Amino acid sequence: MDSVGDTLQRLRETFSAGRTRPAEFRATQLEGLGRFLRDNKQLLQEALARDLRKGTQLDRAFIRKEPFGLVLIIVPWNYPLNLTLVPLVGALAAGNCVVLKPSEISKNMEQVLAEVLPRYLDQSCFAMVLGGPEETGQLLEHRFDYIFFTGSPRVGRIVMTAAAKHLTPVTLELGGKNPCYVDDNCDPETVANRVAFFRYFNTGQTCVAPDYVLCSPEMQERLLPALQSTIARFFGEDPRSSPNLGRIINDKHFQRLQGLLGCGRVAIGGQSDQSDRYIAPTVLVDVQETEPVMQEEIFGPILPIVNVRSLDEAIDFINRREKPLALYAFSKSSEVVKQVLARTSSGGFCGNDGFMHVSLASLPFGGVGASGMGRYHGKFSFDTFSHHRACLLRSQGMEKVYSIRYPPYTPRNLRMLLVAMETRSCSCTLL
Ligand code: NAD
Repeated sequence: MDSVGDTLQRLRETFSAGRTRPAEFRATQLEGLGRFLRDNKQLLQEALARDLRKGTQLDRAFIRKEPFGLVLIIVPWNYPLNLTLVPLVGALAAGNCVVLKPSEISKNMEQVLAEVLPRYLDQSCFAMVLGGPEETGQLLEHRFDYIFFTGSPRVGRIVMTAAAKHLTPVTLELGGKNPCYVDDNCDPETVANRVAFFRYFNTGQTCVAPDYVLCSPEMQERLLPALQSTIARFFGEDPRSSPNLGRIINDKHFQRLQGLLGCGRVAIGGQSDQSDRYIAPTVLVDVQETEPVMQEEIFGPILPIVNVRSLDEAIDFINRREKPLALYAFSKSSEVVKQVLARTSSGGFCGNDGFMHVSLASLPFGGVGASGMGRYHGKFSFDTFSHHRACLLRSQGMEKVYSIRYPPYTPRNLRMLLVAMETRSCSCTLL
């Protein structure tokens, strides 16, 4: 028999090859399960009787969405108001009490929120706790009924570990490296406008920003002049004096980003000034996969371009890495965009644009794998902050009918039970 490792590897290979994706494949497996039940009815009944000696019954059912209770919301610094209010709306709408922990790094917003926000909410259901890692660590020792965390994967692990002690469910909205595939069949000016807009928005300090471009060397040659002129159009010849370009949040992040400027070769930008934490909109080329700029989330105005020779190579590159929060594919061919979508996995996806999918309240927002778990926005926020309580209500009537489920189990009762179990009705599927 296979070792467990071999078995897991075999299943992963099946999954990676896309075998489980087609609808026919899934239908065949479900039909197989149906046949399994029919073909082995006797065998299964005997096994059930030997193990448990009992039957099951269901009746009219409904889902009651109930608040979890006491919710903790932990917020990062990069969109400190939006990432406070959007989860808070969901938590309060669902009827929870909330402890809010804003980011200590966006300290001006922290102060404003602490001073002003409580005036607008009933203090009996809302509290704020201020502080950094130490205070948050102490807070996490307490029991919460739900924790909603937005931040880095590193701290996400700390939060999940703390939550596990109390078996508290979590939503983790994390970050990572979002690939942006640019096919040869593209208009370079359009791609440059869209990629530059979303990469340099908020000075690149956006969890869903395109983190790096994957394209052929030929496409890179066409894209670079287009990016150069787009950046000049957006921010002028001296981006430092542009009112449309922000600054890096603090010295620690500035120094981290300055270190990344040493990766590959600077093709556009590259200037920086520590005195006002300025980093120019930058494009890096000749970047190796092993360099730090390709190992960590960039979270700044730096765009590396990595060369791939084909769509297959781009997809392999993406699939070798952790599942990203967002994935972007640019091509005039909808077939190419669809292929990238079908053969990869990510929290969200946008074809031929940046993070517009995040702006739609009709779409859930969240990560998968290392980019997080859970989802919110719009109605999904309400659902996230609600426990879906499965309920069955039954009256005391019809006891004669229900009595067929009671022992002693006679062949007649069993036949009637089977008929009842096969009844497809919204009010009663099983007796
Ligand atoms: P962070 O993980 O450093 O901090 C987030 C929160 O956790 C802050 O409130 C902070 O006080 C707290 N914290 C920090 N260290 C802690 C520790 N050791 N123990 C307990 N709590 C701790 O993240 P950040 O630097 O504020 O934000 C940037 C990260 O957030 C990036 O990775 C970015 O991609 C991610 N992010 C994700 C989303 C999303 O919606 N998925 C949105 C914005 C930012």
